[in-house]
Amino acid sequence: MRSAPAGGARLQLTSTLCLELLPVGADNYALLLLDDETRAALLVDSPAPGPVLAQLELSGHRLVAVLNTHHHGDHIGANAGLRAATGCALWGAAADAHRIPGLDRQLREGDEVLLGAHPFQIWEIPGHTAGHIAAVSAELALCFCGDTLFFAGCGRRFEGEARTQWASQQRLAALPPATRLACAHEYSAANLRWARGLMPDDPALAAAEVEVQAARAAGRPTLPTTVGAELRHNLFLRAAEPAVAAAVGCAGRPPVEVFAALRAHKDTA
Ligand SMILES: [Zn+2]
Repeated sequence: MRSAPAGGARLQLTSTLCLELLPVGADNYALLLLDDETRAALLVDSPAPGPVLAQLELSGHRLVAVLNTHHHGDHIGANAGLRAATGCALWGAAADAHRIPGLDRQLREGDEVLLGAHPFQIWEIPGHTAGHIAAVSAELALCFCGDTLFFAGCGRRFEGEARTQWASQQRLAALPPATRLACAHEYSAANLRWARGLMPDDPALAAAEVEVQAARAAGRPTLPTTVGAELRHNLFLRAAEPAVAAAVGCAGRPPVEVFAALRAHKDTA
């Protein structure tokens, strides 16, 4: 049995498939799926090559592809290095083909990618960026959501309208509650500090803070989170609650406007 690297975690998804969260820098994870049946590996986003190559060397898996959720540098930065080192393919959104160098496979809504026998559906979830995609496995109750949702937070809206990002988040929120959301940033404590500043008496936020502090004190990631947990404590998914609307000065306004106000508040926090 391999042990997880310090600050990282291993999630056994089936008897022959596991997800490694490899810490990179202060708050990134490289998300590496390892399939023991085929000895193939799939990396979701590539913040840095070192930890990924070290893990592959240790476990003896062959990197088949990097799947990029979007074009930001902390998600594609190691694409070229990993391709040079392993010969892996580069997969990403067709909409981002002009800004993810060297894509071998351009993905669109409804496409399917495979790791061994495990299929992932590609969803287009614009908002954080216009070309953002997710990879969703109903079989594994697992969704790689990139920077669209975080534990108690969401990605900054760089491209597009608030209603677009809201719709993408609502789509993720409609996945079965047990679905694990594998996002790539350890922002949980900072997100909760902001949320508790807005709603200091909210019990779900208080409970989430206890959970996050315990995990961080033990050197464990707070991720992946789940859809059910985010529905309980993520203010961006709770924009329809009157108390959340009131906390951000939007009492009586539609959820999408509350969401936009929350995002604006967080951007200036
Ligand atoms: Zn990003």
